[in-house]
Amino acid sequence: MNSKVIIIGAGISGLATAFWLKEKGVEVKVLESRSEPGGAMRTSFENNYLIDYGPNSGLETTPLIKKLVDKIGMSDQMIYANETSNKRYIYRNNKLHALPTSAHAFIKTKLFSLKGKLRVMKEPFVGRSDDGYYQSLGSFVERRLGKEFLDFAIDPFVSGVFAGDPMKLSVKSAFPKLYALEENYGGLVKGMIKGAKERKKRAEESKQSARMFSFKNGMQSFPNAIAQMIGDDLIYNTEIKQIKRVANKFSVTFATNGIEKNLETDTVFSTVPSYKAANLFGYLDEELEQKLNSIIYPPVMLLYLGYDKSQISQPLDGFGFLIPSKEKKNFLGAIWSSTIFENRSPEGKASFSLFIGGARRMELNSSENKQTIENAIRDFSEIMGITGEPEFLKYKFWQNAIPQYNVGYVEYENYFEKFENENPGIFLGGNYRGGISVGDCVKNSEINSDKILKYLNRS
Ligand SMILES: Cc1cc2nc3c(=O)[nH]c(=O)nc-3n(C[C@H](O)[C@H](O)[C@H](O)COP(=O)(O)OP(=O)(O)OC[C@H]3O[C@@H](n4cnc5c(N)ncnc54)[C@H](O)[C@@H]3O)c2cc1C
Repeated sequence: MNSKVIIIGAGISGLATAFWLKEKGVEVKVLESRSEPGGAMRTSFENNYLIDYGPNSGLETTPLIKKLVDKIGMSDQMIYANETSNKRYIYRNNKLHALPTSAHAFIKTKLFSLKGKLRVMKEPFVGRSDDGYYQSLGSFVERRLGKEFLDFAIDPFVSGVFAGDPMKLSVKSAFPKLYALEENYGGLVKGMIKGAKERKKRAEESKQSARMFSFKNGMQSFPNAIAQMIGDDLIYNTEIKQIKRVANKFSVTFATNGIEKNLETDTVFSTVPSYKAANLFGYLDEELEQKLNSIIYPPVMLLYLGYDKSQISQPLDGFGFLIPSKEKKNFLGAIWSSTIFENRSPEGKASFSLFIGGARRMELNSSENKQTIENAIRDFSEIMGITGEPEFLKYKFWQNAIPQYNVGYVEYENYFEKFENENPGIFLGGNYRGGISVGDCVKNSEINSDKILKYLNRS
C-alpha cells in the first residue's frame, strides 16, 4: 500500500485519473468499496437484453474521450447512436411532439403556442440580469426565453440530465456554458454564433452537436477496460472510513472484508459522492463536512422494460421522450434504448429505460417500488399506445442518484478550492465538482491528474 497517490473510488472519475497518472509514471493505488469497477456505470445482460442501470450513453464533447478509448484498446468496441435518435420528443397535451431542431420546425411545431414562440424570438433583445451567480436556471430561462419555453423545453430537459428542478439548479454551476453565453456575449443567440467559432478552434463540440456514444457491451465496459489497465493497483472490497492528519502525512483508515487497517500517504484523491466524502474529511474540516453533507442527491428509479414490437403502436423513430412537470405523469421520461444502439434487445423486441422520481419526487421511497412501477407502466403504455404487459422488467432504485448543483453552489465550489489549498495533498473530485456527465468526468480526470502531478513535482 506504499503508493504515492491513493485514489478513492473506481468510478469513471477515479479510474480515468488513475490511468493518466500511471501513464505519467506516478505510483497509484485505487481503493474501491464494491467488488467491481464502474460506480454509477452498471451494465448487465439478461435474457438477451442489455441493461444499463446508470448512464445509457455519453456525449463526445471532448477529443479526450476518444483518446482514452484508443489508449485502453476499446476503439473497436465504441459505438455511436443511430441517426434516428437525433429526434427527441416532448410530451404535451396527450401527444409526443418532436423537439424542433431548425427555425422552420420551430415555427411549425405545436409544442409551443404562437405567443410562446414570439417570446423566444425576443431573446436577442433581452438584457443581462443583475443577479450574478444567484440565479436559478429557471429564472434565467424565463427571463431570456419566456415561461412557456421554461415549462415545456427546459423543465423536461433538466429532468433528463440532472433529474433536477430548474427553479433550484444554479445556472452558473449546473450549466456554466449557458451562463457564460450571457456573461461573455450578452445573450444566447449572439453567444452561440460566436461560441461555435471559438469551440472550432479548441476542437470541442457543443453538447447539442456532440455525438452520443456507448460500447457494444454497454457503458460499464468502459470503466472495466480502464480497470484492467490499472491491474493490481486497483483493490476491491476496500472501504475508506476516515482520513486524519499525522504530522506531514495523512493517515487513511480502511476496511478490507471487514478488517480495519491504516496506511499513510501524502496524496489522496477522493472521487466518492459528497455525502460519503463528508465522513472521510470531517476530521479535517467541519465546515467542509457540513457542506458536503448538504448537497442534495434526489432518488431515481431506473425501470427497464422489454416488449414485443407488435405490442407498440408508437413509431420508434427517435431517442425517446421527456415529460414536463406540468403534465403530471408518474415518470420523467423514457429512452428508447433498443432504437438508439444496436443489439440492445432480442430480435423482434424493443427495450425502454424509464426514469422515475428525481427532484420532482424527493419523497420517492424504495418501499413503494411495486406501486411506483405499476403507475409508471400505466402512463407509459398510454403514451406509447402499448397493449399488454411488458415481457421483460428490471429496475434499480438509486437512493442518491445525481448531485444537484443548486443556487449558491458557487460558494461550495469556492470552499472546495479553499479546503484543497489549506490541506495540500488532498484533492476532491467526482461528479459533484465540474459536471455530472460521463464526458465531464473524463474531462476533469485530465485536469485533476495534471493538478496532482504539479503537486507531486513541487520543489
Ligand atoms: C441513473 C443514472 C443515470 C445517468 N445517466 C447518465 C447518462 O445517460 N449520461 C451521462 O453522461 N451521465 C449519466 N449519469 C451520470 C454519470 O453516470 C455519473 O455522474 C458518473 O458516472 C459519476 O462517476 P464518478 O466516478 O464521479 O462517481 P461514481 O460512479 O459514483 O463512483 C464513485 C465510486 O466510489 C466508490 N466508493 C464510495 N464510497 C467509498 C469509500 N468510502 N471507499 C472506497 N470506495 C468508495 C463507489 O462504490 C463508486 O464505485 C447518470 C447517473 C445515474 C445515477
